[in-house]
Amino acid sequence: MIAAIIPAAGSGERFGKDQDGKAKQFLQLAGKPLYEWSLKELCAHEDISQIVLLVPAQEVESIKWETSQGIQMSKVSVIAGGASRQQSVVKGLSFLSQSQPPPDYVLVHDAARPMLSQKMIQDTIDAVTKFGACTLALPVSDTIKKTEGGTVSETVDRSQLVQIQTPQAAKFTWLLEAHEKAIADNLSTTDDSTILQHNGHKVHIVPGSAYNLKITNPEDLLICQSLIFSQKANGLQAAI
Ligand code: C5P
Repeated sequence: MIAAIIPAAGSGERFGKDQDGKAKQFLQLAGKPLYEWSLKELCAHEDISQIVLLVPAQEVESIKWETSQGIQMSKVSVIAGGASRQQSVVKGLSFLSQSQPPPDYVLVHDAARPMLSQKMIQDTIDAVTKFGACTLALPVSDTIKKTEGGTVSETVDRSQLVQIQTPQAAKFTWLLEAHEKAIADNLSTTDDSTILQHNGHKVHIVPGSAYNLKITNPEDLLICQSLIFSQKANGLQAAI
């Protein structure tokens, strides 16, 4: 059995709030809230039987209501996230550990990446069932520099660098135990591959997509909107 966790409990400090004080994952992207794009895509994948959506505590009831309007709600549980992404994922894992039986594999996908496609989900499932742990990632194409006091101090060799995306995935027991070790070791990080690595697991790289954008700043939302509209205009699916 394969489950998915969607951390969507951030406060979106870098993006800023809308006029109702809502964080970025609840902003509208081409007619639906940001978090709904990846939620719907994960719901549509037949191998994923359970999805936990982590949202800010004050949004739980309204999001439960919103998700009940049209999405396959039987797969989705909406619960309160934690103070950091890491804590939100831990809450999702501990919720899933109470399922009978718990899942064999779990995918973690950030709500802030709305361009998730069936191909990305399938590639992740293929890799996690083969290797036990994986993450989507893209080679770095820009020249990367270290800086000091506003000037360039060093050029970094980019040949071994990748940009990490989500989904990330692992055997359920691996990720649960790795998070428990991270808490015991006081390790705080922004992604699950670091946590898996810290517990001695090899995390396989799955080729990501340049379309799998992360919404961090307002211009990212505009870029996603343009992509979605141009796909629609060209009659394309979100198969990217
Ligand atoms: O802040 P950032 O964009 O890196 O967050 C990545 C993802 O983690 C987002 O989807 C965000 O909503 C989620 N998150 C969370 N709980 C937090 C902080 C972030 O679920 N406390």
